[in-house]
Amino acid sequence: MTNWAGNVAYRSPRVHHPETVEDVSGIVAASEHVRALGSRHAFSDISDTSGDLVSLERIDPQVTVAPDRRTVEVTAGTRYAELAEALHAHGLALHNLASLPHLAVGGAIATATHGSGDRSGTLASAVAEIEIVTADGEPRRVRRGDEDFHGVVVAIGALGIVTRVVLDVEETYDVAQEVHTGLAWSEALENFDAVTSSADSVSLFTTWQPEVVDQVWRKTRLAPGEAYTPLGELFGAPSADRKLHPITHVDPVHCTEQLGVPGPWHERLPHFRADHMPSAGAELQSEYLVPREHAVEAISILRALAPRFAELVQVSEIRTIAPDEHWLSSAYGRDTVGLHFTWFPRSVQVRGAAAALEEALAPFGARPHWGKVFVDTRRQVASLFPRIEDFRELRARWDPAGKFRNTFVHRHLG
Ligand SMILES: Cc1cc2nc3c(=O)[nH]c(=O)nc-3n(C[C@H](O)[C@H](O)[C@H](O)COP(=O)(O)OP(=O)(O)OC[C@H]3O[C@@H](n4cnc5c(N)ncnc54)[C@H](O)[C@@H]3O)c2cc1C
Repeated sequence: MTNWAGNVAYRSPRVHHPETVEDVSGIVAASEHVRALGSRHAFSDISDTSGDLVSLERIDPQVTVAPDRRTVEVTAGTRYAELAEALHAHGLALHNLASLPHLAVGGAIATATHGSGDRSGTLASAVAEIEIVTADGEPRRVRRGDEDFHGVVVAIGALGIVTRVVLDVEETYDVAQEVHTGLAWSEALENFDAVTSSADSVSLFTTWQPEVVDQVWRKTRLAPGEAYTPLGELFGAPSADRKLHPITHVDPVHCTEQLGVPGPWHERLPHFRADHMPSAGAELQSEYLVPREHAVEAISILRALAPRFAELVQVSEIRTIAPDEHWLSSAYGRDTVGLHFTWFPRSVQVRGAAAALEEALAPFGARPHWGKVFVDTRRQVASLFPRIEDFRELRARWDPAGKFRNTFVHRHLG
């Protein structure tokens, strides 16, 4: 079995496919080393183990709306696309989504997966309660407000297998999406705050051309049925008059509706449609999360470095993320800007480019996205998370024998 990108073959000799969350307990109790598998979209060996892998994909999605309609409980193997459909049928919505809805809820939360929006936190920031099967095979429930909560939610699978989560939801809304082309870099950097706050969710797509940001996607929330007034030019960048893929020469058939046509939140917040193969298909990805106050300087440094890596880049995306309190979240405690790279699938060269990026971004305290390619040659990743010692203490308490430890955890968290 491989990950979605095909660059990692899991070496685990056994992959379990339990059909109920209750079955997960028995597998964990009987196993010496075990890890959870979500929808396999991570680009590294983060999930892998020499012991047992537990895929949650055969567990039926279960979505239960609380009577007060403020939260929903969902099984962790459910994909966001299925959850969104169920919520929409109830007239409810999530605060944000990632670029594609194919991700499993448990896996996305475990790595602090995020969308874009100055006031929008990671998908993990919506977690109100989590059910997790820990080393003894017993499920534990941890709620917002409990002492360990912020250590448990974003845990890269190192504390146990999450079986159910309770997520904050809100009344449904529509979104309209406009794409702008050819925003001058000078305007983008001089007006960075104005650009990213010009809609509820803003993404800058670039191939690191010297003069312009290729595309800016702006997503605006509307009340259901509300008409959309086009936002107009963005610092001289016109609205596109046709639908576009973030990689400009690729057919936009995979992309969600644009041209300012309003539609349900879950059909506009992701860039890619639930019923199509997302993104470029053959790719690797990396992402570095920098404190917002250093974003313009960090981007300027990457522009200067671009001749060294641009030929490997299919497209880069710059997004904003509101802070959260999860100890291992890449947005922990700071307004954050994500500098994302969709690479051509050339592993060796990509690792070289990632090492160069990490060197260049180190002065800004750039944190890597747990689910994407990074190399951490200086073995400093753990030190970028101020609560790392608390997390280590929690892991020692919950998993003293290292049942959920794997090479990735050992390499990056010690
Ligand atoms: C095409 C594509 C687009 C992407 N877009 C975005 C994006 O817009 N924003 C973004 O931030 N990221 C994005 N990602 C990265 C992706 O969100 C992360 O890699 C995420 O972890 C994938 O979730 P998954 O269920 O596939 O996890 P997996 O790859 O299956 O697992 C990842 C980690 O989560 C753990 N895990 C999985 N399920 C559980 C569980 N039930 N309990 C405990 N731990 C669990 C695993 O053990 C592992 O450590 C994208 C990836 C791809 C391939």
